[in-house]
Amino acid sequence: MINEKIVSDAELNTDSILRFDEKVELFFRHQLKSFNLLSQNYGKLENVEEKIFSFDKYDLKIQFNPERVGSSTAEVDEKTISNRKCFLCPENLYPDQKALKFGEYLFLCNPFPIFKRHFTIPAVQHMPQQFKSNIDGLLDISRALGEKHVLFYNGPGCGASAPDHFHFQAGDKSSLPLFNMLDRMINSAELKMTIKETNIISITNYAAPFIYFESQERAGLKETIKYVFNSLSQLFNTIDEPGMNVLAFYEKDNWKIVLFPRIKHRPSHYFDEENKVVFSPASVDLSGLCILPRKRDFDSISKETLREMIYEVAIDEKKMKNLFKRMQSSKALL
Ligand SMILES: [Zn+2]
Repeated sequence: MINEKIVSDAELNTDSILRFDEKVELFFRHQLKSFNLLSQNYGKLENVEEKIFSFDKYDLKIQFNPERVGSSTAEVDEKTISNRKCFLCPENLYPDQKALKFGEYLFLCNPFPIFKRHFTIPAVQHMPQQFKSNIDGLLDISRALGEKHVLFYNGPGCGASAPDHFHFQAGDKSSLPLFNMLDRMINSAELKMTIKETNIISITNYAAPFIYFESQERAGLKETIKYVFNSLSQLFNTIDEPGMNVLAFYEKDNWKIVLFPRIKHRPSHYFDEENKVVFSPASVDLSGLCILPRKRDFDSISKETLREMIYEVAIDEKKMKNLFKRMQSSKALL
């Protein structure tokens, strides 16, 4: 079953000499011609409405995108999940949808796009959304995608609408406001340290505080990410995966990774019967492209409400500083 879903070089009109990111582009164009729902929804994306809210030190963009309502309101409890067919398993893909293989992962064109290029990248096998066992995948795929794309991971309870089937996503980096402001934020950050040839920086002068990693050294970076993961588990006192959204890209021989620690799945405004706002933040939203699937929310949301909703699901500044102090004092043990 899987094999007939995998797109061949012949279908892409190519040989294997191409770089992977070039192949991904051909695959996207192939799907745009042959996968009906995809071309339909990309047509709609061209007319999507956007607005920019400017704050002191950063901008947030809002996008009215009605096709994303399924994702924003997805029920992810165990009962709902066990009663539906898994839409990321190869046997349940749309009839005219194909996949491009990368190691143990499949690239799929996301038929409900946010970006000019939007991919969902599930594991070939049906296995739960879990970060730690997919760090190699994060590093391999982000490097193969080149500097135009960004790869991202939404943890279970942090925006993943299929927590039962492991998946990354990828999109074009230039669409996310955070990446235009990142260098400035890094330069003005106060809390920095280096572990295993990896720079780690705490960035708090943004709507959602985050941890930034930069390294050329794969092994050291991997260890450092695990160390931060374990420190977050301790901070949140959890044996489950700590809440997180992670974005990674590869630029000038360096991996650059942004990790947003999360304390909540959805903000309280989402559950407010009278003043409900359908906004369920995940990697893309926290990176400054906030998706609102309802027109009335897009028309009426104030910049303060938007900032409040983001801040509520993220780690606060004080906790972030504690985390950093703790890591600084115990890094010698690594
Ligand atoms: Zn599955």
